[in-house]
Amino acid sequence: MLRQNASGNIQRLAQYSERQNAGFEITDSMKMGVSGQVQTFTRNQTATQNREIPLAAQAALHPKIRLASAIGKTGARTVLRNPYRSPLIPTTVQNLSVSPHSHEYYGQLTDIILDSFYPSTCSSCNVKMTGRVSTRSYVAKCPKCRKHVSRISHTPFAYLKLPLWTVGWVLDQSATKYPQVITGAEIKRCLNISEDAALRLKKRVQVFASQHKSAVESLFYSELKKRFHKSKDLLEPDKKDINKRVTTPVGNRPIPQSDSVVLFSAKERSNKGRKRFRHHGQTASIYLTDSLGGRQVGVMVQTTTWKGGPALYESIPNQQTKTILPIIQRQIPKNTPFFTDMGMDWLKPYNRNHRTVNHNLQSKRGTGKSRRRFQQNGIHTQAAEGRQGALKTAFRAYRYIKPEHSQLYLNEYSFFGALKYYGAERITSQNQSLLGQNQRPKTKQQGWGLSGMNFSTHNQY
Ligand SMILES: [Zn+2]
Repeated sequence: MLRQNASGNIQRLAQYSERQNAGFEITDSMKMGVSGQVQTFTRNQTATQNREIPLAAQAALHPKIRLASAIGKTGARTVLRNPYRSPLIPTTVQNLSVSPHSHEYYGQLTDIILDSFYPSTCSSCNVKMTGRVSTRSYVAKCPKCRKHVSRISHTPFAYLKLPLWTVGWVLDQSATKYPQVITGAEIKRCLNISEDAALRLKKRVQVFASQHKSAVESLFYSELKKRFHKSKDLLEPDKKDINKRVTTPVGNRPIPQSDSVVLFSAKERSNKGRKRFRHHGQTASIYLTDSLGGRQVGVMVQTTTWKGGPALYESIPNQQTKTILPIIQRQIPKNTPFFTDMGMDWLKPYNRNHRTVNHNLQSKRGTGKSRRRFQQNGIHTQAAEGRQGALKTAFRAYRYIKPEHSQLYLNEYSFFGALKYYGAERITSQNQSLLGQNQRPKTKQQGWGLSGMNFSTHNQY
């Protein structure tokens, strides 16, 4: 039965895909002898079958397993003690019984994702539309009045022009690959679809993540509010006693930190050898010189996180107070203990528990920088810097992103990190409480257009 389903899916894919080739249908089934019996495997079945077939037979299937069979006993079975569970499946939902790496699995996963992230409710009966139509997977049916609605309209996955299971696949891949990212080129290779289709799918993931950004942010905010509720103020840093820790009143509760980093900078070479005068410090490196138009070409990111926590990334055009203050006010509750570097000294009047570390601290001997420049009195931004290191590594896979699209990429990265930390259930329920019960996150409401993903704010400065 399973085989029939799998091949049915393959045929369906072949119908959908524009480059339909004869080789993609079930011509690649393999025959192999296992102790006299003949077993047949189709391309998508091997993963399921691997669990049951003897190791010797697997060795024939896979050249690498031959090594293992030489060491281990012949006839031993490979058993997955903890079957793979996608991070996108809420804890309330049972794990899928089908193996990953099959269309059937990703079809069911898409179903679960649409159900939990974009629930559809009957407008007349006000109940969740749990009914399904077997021949049309994108339709939900009201269990009472049997009304039909589309489950993908008004979601980022409408008009995708790809089979629905690809949605589950791409979201699952993005979640499991974190802290690495999946690029458009990789989607193209893995699904064997056109570049346009792959980029379309990638953009939809970004819009999906952006629609859940406010839920992630409010979870972040409320967690901090709860953690430092009624906590005593941090001590002032002591220049004489380097061991006096400012964090003593809050104990070992992780303190949020913020730092900024430049992802893609305009090198002097791309400036045709000109030096920059208009902007200072880090900001200078993301702009071309005025004689070359002075437009922003690099991306600067403000990272807020705590040790072991989720991270929020904001693409910023400069490090001015008017740019960063609204971001910090959205992320950090008032007077919450907060560490940054000296660049954000201006925050003190808004937050009496804001402490800064001087990365430029000179040594007392008078030559060079002090080795205490990374932390003073227990104030440091190492968690934020660590996240930025991971971000830089991951974003190298993209090679370059335009500043106007940078926030979408950052939202995507932030979302999958938060998904790991909070789980699908908390993010969806937070969304429900922000939007109202059984409401879907909307694209228009939060200013995320599917087609025009432009950030006018970036060019203002
Ligand atoms: Zn109804």
